Amino acid sequence: METSEKKKGEQRMAKDHLIVVTGAGGFIGGSLVRSLRERGFTRIRGVDKKPLPNWYQRVPDVEYLCLDLSHRKNCLRAVENAVEVYNLAADMGGMGFIERFRVECLRSILINTHMIEAAYRAGVERYFFSSSACAYNTDLQKSPDVRPLKESDAYPAMAERGYGWEKLMSEIFCQEYWVERGLKTFIARFHNVYGPHGTWDGGREKAPAALCRKVIEAEDKGRNWIEIWGEGTRTRSFMFIDDCIKGIDKIVHCEDLIATPINLGSSELVSVDELVTIIEEIAGVKLERRYDLSAPKGVGGRNSDNTMIKRILGWEPSTPLREGLKKTYAWIETQYADRKAGKKTIE
Ligand code: NAD
Repeated sequence: METSEKKKGEQRMAKDHLIVVTGAGGFIGGSLVRSLRERGFTRIRGVDKKPLPNWYQRVPDVEYLCLDLSHRKNCLRAVENAVEVYNLAADMGGMGFIERFRVECLRSILINTHMIEAAYRAGVERYFFSSSACAYNTDLQKSPDVRPLKESDAYPAMAERGYGWEKLMSEIFCQEYWVERGLKTFIARFHNVYGPHGTWDGGREKAPAALCRKVIEAEDKGRNWIEIWGEGTRTRSFMFIDDCIKGIDKIVHCEDLIATPINLGSSELVSVDELVTIIEEIAGVKLERRYDLSAPKGVGGRNSDNTMIKRILGWEPSTPLREGLKKTYAWIETQYADRKAGKKTIE
């Protein structure tokens, strides 16, 4: 595997080149900063609009800037002297957020529009954009028994209204900045990322974290039931955060993937009911399931076709869901207990 990882086209940069990560106060951006630091990069700048005390993770010896990147001037500042830029900033959340707040989701186009232009002007070598499986044609995702989505399935376009169209449009920006201006851009379509340090409460959380929290809450309050959004039969795949971080690095340093959207997701498909069962088994409980059919549900089914990533990178996200969920559950359990004990946890 290592041999194919180092195959033709792979480019690595010096440890003291400046790397900029946006959305660094959030889940994936924060985890990326930590991983870069652990791998010995000495000049990292993390940028987010949230006030610093609310960032999910912070590690020593990183330059942190609090800037709203929907403004051009702030993007110019954010990328000063950067060699690589990872744009992970977006106004986003789980289905409960993206179905209700389409305007906010669409407005993230401002972030990528200004960030990519600023990166181009600053002469950065590599620019990464975090796209989403929500960019895929929703007509192909009606049934829980879904065919895994391959990269070409984004067109003819019929993306998720709001969030998905913003991602698709930003992908096109990335492709045209390469074709017209020679900026090396890299685009990963993430499929549901979960893990420690993700959003687990407050309305933006996604299904794995929300369900872990609901099970923990039921136990804590002595309730024998949980509420589940939808009918429980919809299917998804979920990628553990460590695979996501590893995949981003591989994609950004592969010359064969310049300006080429690629799936970054797990291909382990489960229904919501199966997800709940795994979480119950981890928690050692069995709860009555109350289905809320009026809650946001999203598409009927969605899975990642990993043929392309395996062919080009000789690798695919492979952390088993049960293994990743064990770590996630344990982390949320601690957060929950800390909050209950009045210790400060971040939202
Ligand atoms: P997150 O919400 O935890 O992090 C996003 C961060 O962007 C937040 O900290 C937020 O404050 C910041 N942000 C929002 N608007 C900003 C602005 N105007 N200026 C500066 N910062 C701003 O989300 P995440 O899960 O870490 O997602 C990171 C990226 O990956 C996003 O682009 C998201 O659309 C994409 N993505 C995530 C998933 C997933 O399952 N988590 C799936 C598909 C795509």
